[in-house]
Amino acid sequence: MSASGWKTWARRAGMIALAGAAAVAQGAPRELAVPGGVAWVKVGEVDAAVADLLPPPKVYFQDKRVLVHKREGAWYALVGLPLSLGPGEYALKVVAPGAGARTTQAGFTVTDKRYPEQRLVIKDTRKVTPGPEELARIQREQQIIDRVKHRWEEVAEVDLSFRLPANGPLSSRFGLKRFFNGQPRNPHAGLDVAIPGGTPVMAAAAGTVSNTGDYFFNGNTVFVDHGQGLVSMYCHLDRIDVKEGERLTAGQRLGLSGMTGRATGPHLHWSVILNGTMVDPELFISGR
Ligand code: ZN
Repeated sequence: MSASGWKTWARRAGMIALAGAAAVAQGAPRELAVPGGVAWVKVGEVDAAVADLLPPPKVYFQDKRVLVHKREGAWYALVGLPLSLGPGEYALKVVAPGAGARTTQAGFTVTDKRYPEQRLVIKDTRKVTPGPEELARIQREQQIIDRVKHRWEEVAEVDLSFRLPANGPLSSRFGLKRFFNGQPRNPHAGLDVAIPGGTPVMAAAAGTVSNTGDYFFNGNTVFVDHGQGLVSMYCHLDRIDVKEGERLTAGQRLGLSGMTGRATGPHLHWSVILNGTMVDPELFISGR
């Protein structure tokens, strides 16, 4: 976020601070505590006297480390909620910094959300029902992807001001229940932007390229690690212009769009991963 953007956000947040917890929902990412959404959960006050000396609390959700962000004089956890999560009451484990490392809990509520259905016809049947060789490749790639998704990079201030990585209309939304040639598949775990092949694709926010590869389903893919378990993924690229370990600024071009991997036409598939789980990227982009 630019300095002026931050000031605008802070001013807006300040104006509605009296509204209590609802004030936290303002700014990016937007809170939507549903399966596939994100929750902002207050996990402690920032003690101004020792703020520069003490690190933020360490927070865990279902044994996974969770991003912690300073807001309005308090520490908030930004929690990614899996699509498979049922509605109900949940708790975070909060380990306070400093001597003693006191452990407490912070509760939050997840409500239900019903996502629409999408039915697709894929002509290349190998991509719908992969053979044994393809299955072996898919399993190999899944291990790499899991590692990249669950990486924890210690970053003091994570860039949370995401922008849409390509200019185009949004087509398939996050969470769609998909059927390929009538067979049920995993829900759509990203957001599709309808753009012609060869369109520049930009980093949604500042971060480090944690992986690039040509994957069976996702085609040419770039992962950008923004720190503290926040990762973005850009798929079906025609061309990759960055290398693993490269540091990217927000909006920097990382490649050109295409239709590599399992794609019915050129588009960008963009996913956002938080504490190892795919969440709705639209919650991260404001002003649309
Ligand atoms: Zn997609």
